[in-house]
Order: sequence, then structure tokens, then C-alpha cells
Amino acid sequence: MLREFGVAPPKKHVVIVGAGFGGLACAKKLRKSAAYSVTLIDRNPYQLFSPLLYQVATASLPEDDIAFPVRTAYREVQFIRAEVTNVDTGAKTLTLSTGKTLSYDDLVLAVGSEGTTFGIPGVAEHTLQMKSVAHARDIRRSLLRTYEAVEDGVLPIESLNVVIVGGGPTGVELAGAVRELQGEIKREFAHIAPQATVTLLEAGPRLLPSFQPSSSEHARKALTKMGVNVRVDAAVTEATSRSLRLKDGEELVAGTRIWAAGVVAPPHWKFLGESDRGNRLKVNPQLQLNDSLWVVGDAANFADAEGKPLPMIAPVAIQQGRHVARQMLRRERNEALEPFKYRDKGQMATIGRRKAVVEVRPWLRFQGTIAWLTWLALHLAYLSGGRNRTSIFADWVWNYFVWTPRRTITE
Ligand SMILES: Cc1cc2nc3c(=O)[nH]c(=O)nc-3n(C[C@H](O)[C@H](O)[C@H](O)COP(=O)(O)OP(=O)(O)OC[C@H]3O[C@@H](n4cnc5c(N)ncnc54)[C@H](O)[C@@H]3O)c2cc1C
Repeated sequence: MLREFGVAPPKKHVVIVGAGFGGLACAKKLRKSAAYSVTLIDRNPYQLFSPLLYQVATASLPEDDIAFPVRTAYREVQFIRAEVTNVDTGAKTLTLSTGKTLSYDDLVLAVGSEGTTFGIPGVAEHTLQMKSVAHARDIRRSLLRTYEAVEDGVLPIESLNVVIVGGGPTGVELAGAVRELQGEIKREFAHIAPQATVTLLEAGPRLLPSFQPSSSEHARKALTKMGVNVRVDAAVTEATSRSLRLKDGEELVAGTRIWAAGVVAPPHWKFLGESDRGNRLKVNPQLQLNDSLWVVGDAANFADAEGKPLPMIAPVAIQQGRHVARQMLRRERNEALEPFKYRDKGQMATIGRRKAVVEVRPWLRFQGTIAWLTWLALHLAYLSGGRNRTSIFADWVWNYFVWTPRRTITE
């Protein structure tokens, strides 16, 4: 009716909660649509590029490089900085931490995940997590400041030991980078630094459990050669203010204890539908909980053809964010919704400078310098923002030739 008089119908309001990989991918695709106005909400004004968090934690990159400012990212998208505290799916409204209420026609939940301690005593209090910039800052401070405290006699020499729990890609990358940092720092603290150790603990039988066994073995050998003490079948049963205890009773004393094992979706949203053990909401093939509520990324449990939930990684979140935007556009054209299909482009982990493992397919995998260069190129390509990309590239080139730990003025 409106069209007959030449008046465009009002735009539908899409609210996206979470400006991470999934939320931003969805906003980018919808932003120019004539049918939708898009509001993006996040508690932080930036998108965190988590895959490079370990480089901030180990004083290789400044934190600004991995935080992409979203407020000005897409002119057509309204950005609100707030925590979303509740959703009323009946009234189609959400409540913000600022006390405001916002109504929506479609809601995309892209709230990511958080670390879990599996309820192991002491882990929450006595280990450092690595999920946010603040966490990376804490790790970097602990790694660097401990040297000064040991030199001053405030802390015992065992405080230089670092134990990392979790043999997945994050733990492997962090272990290699911490060992390299310890190598570089020898120049500054020559008399104490050689005594610093790094131990990587994995509860299962091998590192990188989602990779092929040969890649796991490559990572183990490469880390061991670098001087990392790799321990598999080593489940942690308790953390204290000075150590980690293993299931066989052994106690590992370390000044820096990092927990890189396990993530779950935020439990807060479980009331919206059926969820799995990791709090991920079980979505239908189109990634919906109902006609107007979509879930993408780490917060969604979407099973592949064999019924296995997709991994909590950035490519899944990006593809799902784009898929949801495409479905909304199809719906406006009165076209049927399509099920989501994940295009698996493989996985990779870096072990240290010029060392990485890449698996495109189980039968197409490579290691060493070529894998490392592939890792560098892909991470640059996935980064948002030309400025971040240029800055990281420049830092990497600099670090390759003249590596010195990057301290902030508070360290
Ligand atoms: C240390 C680390 C290393 C990683 N390395 C890799 C890697 O090498 N390769 C890879 O593919 N994946 C990696 N991942 C996983 C990858 O980062 C995630 O799979 C990806 O970020 C998921 O995207 P998402 O959009 O679901 O969530 P996120 O990108 O985490 O975004 C969620 C957003 O929602 C916001 N948010 C959450 N709740 C609320 C709320 N209530 N109100 C307002 N805002 C909210 C958060 O602030 C955040 O910005 C890594 C993760 C970590 C922690």
C-alpha cells in the first residue's frame, strides 16, 4: 500500500549483541540494506582480535594493535556501548546496563565465550586467564615484573618459572612465545634469567588434540627443542598462590601460572533455549532459536553433518554472521531460508618464530617456515582495519630482526 504512494516501508530494526567476529561480519553485510537499520551493541568499544592476544601477553605487540575500534567502523551502523543484561523474546525488547530498553525486529546474539576453570579448586583465584586485553596485560606484567622482584630478593628464584595449562593452540602458541621472551630477557637479567623455565601441561595424551597426530608430535618436538618442558597426561587438580598440583600429587612451583584450558558460552543466556554442557545454545539449521532470534559464533551449538558441534573458532563465527545477514535479506525478498553450511578451511597454530603447523585437509598439511609465513599472511588478512594491519606488519618485521620486549610505561 505504501509503495503505491511512493513511500518506502519503514526499516526493520536488527540488533546485534556482540561486536566480535560473528557480530561484525553480520553488521558488515547488512549495513547497506534498504530493508534494515542495524544497531550493534558491545560492552567494549573495540573488536578484540583474540588470536594475537598471546603476542600482547608476551610483550611482542602493543594492545592497541589487536583492538579494532568499532564505533566508527561502519557509518550506517549505530553503535551502543553497553552490557546487554536481559532479553524479552515475547515483547522483543532488550535491557541494557545503562537502564535503557531497546526494541528489535530481529536479534542476533553474538556474545562469544568465556574461560572455564572446570571447578578445579584455586584455579579462579591463583591462575591468570587469557581472554581479554586486561588478562594479557596481567600476564605480561607478571612475566616482566617477576624478574625485577627476584633480582631484588623479594621473590625466590622459582618465581621465574612459568606453567601454562592447556595444550590446545592457545597454550602451544603461548608456551613458544614465553620461551622466546625468556631467551631475549637474558640480556637484561643475565645472572638470574637462565634459571627461568616454561612448562606446558596437557591433561590429554597429546598437544593440539584437534590436529592430526603428526602435527601434535611436530609441535611437541619443536617446543621441547626450544626448551619448553612439555607434559601430557598431566591433569591439574589444584592451584595455590605459588604452585599447581597434578593428579599424581606432584607440585609445580611457578610465579606465573596461566590457565589456557577450556572455554564455555556465557551461562547468562541459557534461559533462551536448550543448551549443551558448554552453555552453547542449540540452534536450528538456519541458526535460529525462533523466527526473530538468531545465534552465531561461540555462543551457538550448530552440529555438522556427523552431529558434532562446530569448533569455537573465528572462521565459524564469521561465516555464521554472514549467513544470518544473507538469510534476513532472502526473507525480505520472500525467498526460503537456507541451512548453514560450514566451509572448513583448515586449522593452524604457530609454535615460535619461523615455526608453525598448518592443516588445510587431513592429507594436506605442512610445517616449519612455510607454515609460519602462511600463518602470518592469514592473520593479517583476517584483521579488521588497515591501520591495525599496517602497524602489526611493521611490528612483526621489527621483531623479526631486532626483538626487544615491548613494555608499557607501567612495566
Ligand atoms: C586467546 C585466544 C586465542 C584464540 N585464537 C584463535 C585462533 O588462532 N584462530 C581462531 O579461529 N580462533 C581463535 N580463538 C577463538 C576466537 O577468538 C573465537 O572463536 C571468536 O572470537 C568467536 O567469535 P564470536 O563473534 O562468537 O565472539 P567474540 O569475537 O568473542 O565476540 C563477542 C563479543 O560480545 C561482547 N559481549 C558479550 N556479552 C555481551 C553482553 N552481554 N553485552 C554486550 N556485549 C557483550 C564481547 O565484549 C565481545 O566483543 C581464540 C580465542 C582466544 C581467547
